[in-house]
Amino acid sequence: PTFEAMGLKEDLLRGIYAYGYETPSAVQSRAIVQILKGRDTIAQAQSGTGKTATFSISLLQTIDTKVRETQALVLSPTRELAVQIQNVVLALGNYMNVQCHACIGGTSISEDIRKLDYGQHVVSGTPGRVADMIRRRNLRTRNIKMLILDEADELLDRGFQDQIYDVYRYLPPSTQVIVVSATLPYDVLEMTNKFTTDPVRILV
Ligand code: AMP
Repeated sequence: PTFEAMGLKEDLLRGIYAYGYETPSAVQSRAIVQILKGRDTIAQAQSGTGKTATFSISLLQTIDTKVRETQALVLSPTRELAVQIQNVVLALGNYMNVQCHACIGGTSISEDIRKLDYGQHVVSGTPGRVADMIRRRNLRTRNIKMLILDEADELLDRGFQDQIYDVYRYLPPSTQVIVVSATLPYDVLEMTNKFTTDPVRILV
């Protein structure tokens, strides 16, 4: 399996190779094709498997950078992780003119508003600040096509359930949902059952 065989856009392939990736990891080989078919996906995968690039490549393939609206939203449990994800999206999307904002707590709200008003194709954030920006209508959700919950078990362990459910209620009903989690305890499965339709399950 190769990245070319996945039918990725030229400018995205260029970003992947420039970043130093040559061949897809196991989770990338199995999940990206399913996600690009539009399937809701549950990937049971830990850090170190290439999970971040799995959803970053998928969302970069899905967005239309000519439309300056938020089309993909990634929620993760920590500010550091949200920034790491932003950096991977920007690196892999280096030849795509992609705008990706990290929407995280502990940073200036007015700066968040400025960045969001400018237009961000991708938002990578923590649930509290993202929910806040949606409620304020600075993060507009009507063009969101993909929601990624990264480290879903950690998200719930850290008490973000209410904020995540709040965010989900604002998304278009057709939003594709991708859940990445090292473990699948009851609360993760319950959330997954609410947010996904006929999901593909991938265990790496
Ligand atoms: P993650 O599972 O997202 O924490 O990624 C683990 C590490 O693997 C990171 O340093 C990635 O940059 C790296 N990585 C992800 N995908 C690939 C790939 N296809 N080829 C080489 N390295 C990769």
